[in-house]
Amino acid sequence: MKTMRANFGSPPSLLFKTAQLLNDAVDAHISADVELADTLIREADIPELGEWLDPIWLRKSEVTKAIKVEGIPPVLPKDQRDPARMPTANMKRELIARDGHHCRFCSIPLVRAEVRKELCRLYPNAARWTSPCETDQHRGLQVLWLQYDHLMVHSRGGATSLENMVIACVACNFGRDRYTLEEMRFLDPRTHPRTPNWSGAAGWDGLERILPKSKQWLAEAA
Ligand SMILES: [Zn+2]
Repeated sequence: MKTMRANFGSPPSLLFKTAQLLNDAVDAHISADVELADTLIREADIPELGEWLDPIWLRKSEVTKAIKVEGIPPVLPKDQRDPARMPTANMKRELIARDGHHCRFCSIPLVRAEVRKELCRLYPNAARWTSPCETDQHRGLQVLWLQYDHLMVHSRGGATSLENMVIACVACNFGRDRYTLEEMRFLDPRTHPRTPNWSGAAGWDGLERILPKSKQWLAEAA
């Protein structure tokens, strides 16, 4: 008997602490208190988050084990897949307008790469992101890294389209890897409403306000 689930399990409360600290850091930056912003970004770099994330996104945990499912679409040769592997900038923007800066599987708040890059540019030592190695990246920015996820896997014929894609977090995206929703026993997030998880006083804007207004991508319904 397979039990379906919405995600890999509740994220740790520390994840929301890091989101709050980064949110406060952006407020401090906007108030021109760069020293406080720097301190808060460092505080948001919580090593324990790696203990939760690494087993999931590196697929070493039991929770990421796929089950056998009959009749799933085969892995297609490369020339039979949607030639667009990644959505265009316009599509990405539309996905955020629709789904917001929250994972559609586990509902956590997220930050897109362009916003993270701006934080890294402004605070290169505090917002460390020096190499692709897991431990050389700011752990808070890592767990909140916004992904554009194919529901039907791209290699199995899934289209790079608004209908087949959702906003997701690294744990849900990398943890599911090349497996279908059914193989990972994931419920289809399109069948239930968004439930953004953020208790901050203002809505979670993905820290977009660190960018110039013209570059901000915001949800239509925060
Ligand atoms: Zn998630």
